[in-house]
Amino acid sequence: MDALLTEIEARADEIAALTADLVRIPTLNPPGRHYRDICDAVGARMCARGWQVEMIRAEGALGDSDAYPRWNVICRLEGKAPGDTVHFNSHHDVVAVGEGWTRDPFGGEIEGGRVWGRGACDMKGGLATSIVAAEAFADRVPDFRGAIEISATADEESGGYGGVAHLAEQGRFAHVGHVIIPEPLGKDRICLGHRGVWWAEIETKGHIAHGSMPFLGDCAVRHMGAVLDEMERTLFPLLAGRRTDAPVIPDGARQPTVNLNAIHGGEPVQPDGYTGLPSACVPDRCVLTIDRRFLPEEDIAEVKAEIRALMERVRAARPDFRYEIRDLFEVLPTMTPEDAPIVTTVRQAVADVMGRDAGFVVSPGTYDQKHIDRIGRLKNCIAYGPGVLDLAHQPDEWIGIDDMVDSGKVMALALHRLLGG
Ligand SMILES: [Zn+2]
Repeated sequence: MDALLTEIEARADEIAALTADLVRIPTLNPPGRHYRDICDAVGARMCARGWQVEMIRAEGALGDSDAYPRWNVICRLEGKAPGDTVHFNSHHDVVAVGEGWTRDPFGGEIEGGRVWGRGACDMKGGLATSIVAAEAFADRVPDFRGAIEISATADEESGGYGGVAHLAEQGRFAHVGHVIIPEPLGKDRICLGHRGVWWAEIETKGHIAHGSMPFLGDCAVRHMGAVLDEMERTLFPLLAGRRTDAPVIPDGARQPTVNLNAIHGGEPVQPDGYTGLPSACVPDRCVLTIDRRFLPEEDIAEVKAEIRALMERVRAARPDFRYEIRDLFEVLPTMTPEDAPIVTTVRQAVADVMGRDAGFVVSPGTYDQKHIDRIGRLKNCIAYGPGVLDLAHQPDEWIGIDDMVDSGKVMALALHRLLGG
């Protein structure tokens, strides 16, 4: 076992170099660029080391097109005896670069013990770490049982429908026993799952009329103002009074939250270059998009009923108030039990490598575990990987090489415990 840990340390430069190579492939999502390139890069490496490599395009999935095909790769290495399959799943897409960078976002610079660039932390560092850890384990323990799989998948940042959801629909997790998703939760924390989410559009309705005689119309924006006012008075205080027992991080996310994502009423925003004035109209519709995150203890039907009740309170106070609520998207909370085999295994490995107990956390937002749970019907899944979560999606994103090495040791030890030798 010590030899295995030494082996990971010896491969620190290799982990950093592989992370940098992956960062240099700008897999921006949206729209979903260079997905095939990154799958080819991972596939070529693993194929050269004797892994079976399969490229899977999520044809017909949300977001897939000939211009932007949704490519995924699964690599598999068979052991020498029957046993469990341990699967590491990483998403290969990254979010937009944004402003404020002092480094080349796709330069893959290695400096100061860190690898820099968009996706270094979320989550090409985790992908590279799992690859090198699995290779090191297979080299040191060639007669292991079962099999190891490594997948790099599309579109996690936009819901995962062209990635893990597609693989799960194809039954690609049916034979899998354990899943580790190396998202950047921190090298000494195990993420058991995530809160739920409900996206909806709330529309208030009015009547169009000439803006010089608003009394002849009915202003949908004023109706929406009353909705926002009711939210401030009753909904936000109500949510602030609830708290989950689950270890959701950061602490502010231990209460349910609602983000007012977008609001639009009246005439459409004119395109750049339009130099005219607005026309004088009373807005006849106003649309508010809400992003409601709910706790494992909350029921989605009640979450929706709460908003409907709020709208009814507004209606009671306003004659002619008409509205509509449209569901856009929902995901139920996911929680892997603390005594699941993958949890106890990784917890023991963290204790062995770092000399302390791993903390349990629950993510404020969803990630691909939802598809493995609901479509793949596999509960034995956690997120565990290197990196500082707060750096995800930020300018000057980086990942620490030491963190990757420590996490790599934990992953290799977990493989050792599950697949033996
Ligand atoms: Zn991520």
